[in-house]
Amino acid sequence: METTEHSTGSAPQRISADEHCIDETKICEQAKFIVRGLLDAGFQAYLVGGCVRDLLLGITPKDFDVATDAHPNEICDLFENSRLIGRRFQIVHVYFRRDYIEVSTFRALAKSTHSGSSTEFTNGRIVRDNTFGTIEEDAARRDFTVNAMYYDLEHSQVLDFCDGLEDIYNRRLRMIGPADVRYREDPVRMLRALRFRAKLDLEIAEDTAAPILSMGHLLKEVSPARLFDETIKLFHSGYAVNCFHELEHYKILPNLLPFTHSALKDDEDFRTFIYAALENTDARIAGGKSVNPAFVFAVFLWKSYTKLLEQYNSQGIRYGEGAWEAGRSTVLQQSAVTSIAKRFSITICEIWKLQNRFSRKRGRKVLQFMQHPRFRAAYDFMCLRAQAGELDSYECKWWTKLQAAEPVEQRKMTQQGRKNKISKSI
Ligand code: ATP
Ligand code: MG
Repeated sequence: METTEHSTGSAPQRISADEHCIDETKICEQAKFIVRGLLDAGFQAYLVGGCVRDLLLGITPKDFDVATDAHPNEICDLFENSRLIGRRFQIVHVYFRRDYIEVSTFRALAKSTHSGSSTEFTNGRIVRDNTFGTIEEDAARRDFTVNAMYYDLEHSQVLDFCDGLEDIYNRRLRMIGPADVRYREDPVRMLRALRFRAKLDLEIAEDTAAPILSMGHLLKEVSPARLFDETIKLFHSGYAVNCFHELEHYKILPNLLPFTHSALKDDEDFRTFIYAALENTDARIAGGKSVNPAFVFAVFLWKSYTKLLEQYNSQGIRYGEGAWEAGRSTVLQQSAVTSIAKRFSITICEIWKLQNRFSRKRGRKVLQFMQHPRFRAAYDFMCLRAQAGELDSYECKWWTKLQAAEPVEQRKMTQQGRKNKISKSI
């Protein structure tokens, strides 16, 4: 059985306010409220992880995590609107209307050979981990040094156990402990490394980066549900283009999006299409627009879908039936890797199936089509196809013009609408 312990050294470095650049006005009031509540009740409490990292990088964190020596039930007793969640790790969400702050008890990565330990390993992978520990142990079980810093709000001090601050200054992402062991414990850490590299522009330290190139296959051991969440974090990070590039560079793509990887092998146009879609996703996020997980999966699986649809066509199966069946099978295959919830899979199939409706430009049905709940997503998708050269750019222009037109003009356009101009229609 594996035993894993990543030493942090004993006492942390305490970095005071005049030596760090944290702007406390960037810390949300709810997080401050929770830390104060825990401190007043006699517990230790700190901001921890990504929020401290981001504050030190001068970024406003998107969420705040609190770490404490209070046990989950004690946290729940202290705060109304708190909910105990998690199977693998028990943590508490304290709600403020729709938002919540995650509060977790200091945990240790206990040796699995110890009797009474509640960290379980299978082939070096952590399968359950709920051993309470000290703050030092809590720091040691975190992934990267830059994610293992604590912020003491009472004294405005950063507590640094693993030289994370030095790594922040050097913009370096470094695993705590031996990287290969830590990736085996939890292969998702590889995806996290690539996401932080892409998003925060950190250089991955040599010994943290090297094992990734040969360990991608371990992702097969991660639950498809967790992999779906992590995939969405990658592509909805606002840095989807960079993330995709990193996935390819570190040879992770075959293990996360195997069908996309195969389709890319002999199809540069598909690469153009993917990058156009990811640029579009990044731009939407930068502009504060909504993004739907279904869309990126519709993009990644497009070639698998069209290939299957062509097969059905050649077997004489009519479009409506073939499109649903090809869509369903394509999504199902990918779901074995990253489980795709039914609500997303329906949207993906609709975006695909609606693609052939853009070739019809005459008649009342055209205006009805614009009322379809998935019209907008299907239209965006079609324009990306045009951008990547799969369709005539006229297609996108015509539909863009139709949407912007006054009703009278719309009627005119659909009365005279040109017939199918799609070069490679499906
Ligand atoms: P972001 O929220 O910006 O994606 P983050 O680092 O805050 O980044 P979270 O998933 O919010 O990521 O996790 C909070 C903290 O929990 C991390 O900073 C890290 O210390 C720890 N952590 C999260 N996932 C892991 C993991 N797989 N292994 C070890 N520690 C982890
Ligand atoms: Mg976070």
